[in-house]
Amino acid sequence: MSRSVLVTGGNRGIGLAIAQAFLEAGDKVAVTHRGSGAPDGLLGVECDVTDNAAVDRAFSEVEAAHGPVEVLVSNAGMTEDTLLMRMSEESFTRVVDANLTGAYRVAKRATPGMLKARRGRMIFISSVVAFAGSPGQVNYAASKAGLLGVARSIARELGSRNITANVVAPGFIDTDMTAELSDARRNEILGSVPLKRYGHAAEIAAAVHFLASEQAGYISGVVLPVDGGLGMGI
Ligand code: NDP
Repeated sequence: MSRSVLVTGGNRGIGLAIAQAFLEAGDKVAVTHRGSGAPDGLLGVECDVTDNAAVDRAFSEVEAAHGPVEVLVSNAGMTEDTLLMRMSEESFTRVVDANLTGAYRVAKRATPGMLKARRGRMIFISSVVAFAGSPGQVNYAASKAGLLGVARSIARELGSRNITANVVAPGFIDTDMTAELSDARRNEILGSVPLKRYGHAAEIAAAVHFLASEQAGYISGVVLPVDGGLGMGI
């Protein structure tokens, strides 16, 4: 069965790997981007998740092309790292607006279609940092921890309609986002990863794809770490 899938921030990095996994499985896949366009085979819809009107337009475009969104992957995210003493309220709010309120916006917009279809899958991309904390990432960690409350509340609200909501918590994955870190910080993180390597975006995609599958129909409200063991025991 070919489903209508939307991945926010699916134009690059982890989001792109997720979009490609669904595409390879035969689904109709749309990705949001902020002007870059979308790689071949994917329907690109321009959308900044901090803009509610843009979210609404993007969903309308996807609905017209592929039908109501049946699988929503809320992946779009950003960092703006600095120590708490230097972190402006604007920076805190900006990151929460993109990573957490953005997830609320897309989940809310996806809900009527899923309710009508009496089925749906929502997957939120959090981070190991949500549980472990991270110096310099008060804004980011808060936004990623908030996704757990969003997903679990949705799981309880919409479960009776055959809609599941789950969280994937990646560890240290080699993408543009982590390329910004200093070599010292990268090596420090790597030292504490039991598997002693960075994760690949495709490994996050595999977990997301599973949670969206028929086989995962009785899994809701979980946090699935995909982190090489980095966050275990926290
Ligand atoms: P990248 O920086 O490579 O990509 C970020 C994606 O998010 C881009 O597609 C970007 O769009 C999009 N995006 C950012 N802000 C917005 C916004 N306001 N509206 C719409 N789209 C936006 O990051 P990754 O692929 O590494 O990360 C993807 C997700 O995984 C993020 O949520 C991140 O927090 C999470 N994550 C990543 C980890 C890692 O180690 N890489 C670890 C744990 C979690 P554009 O191209 O337009 O900028």
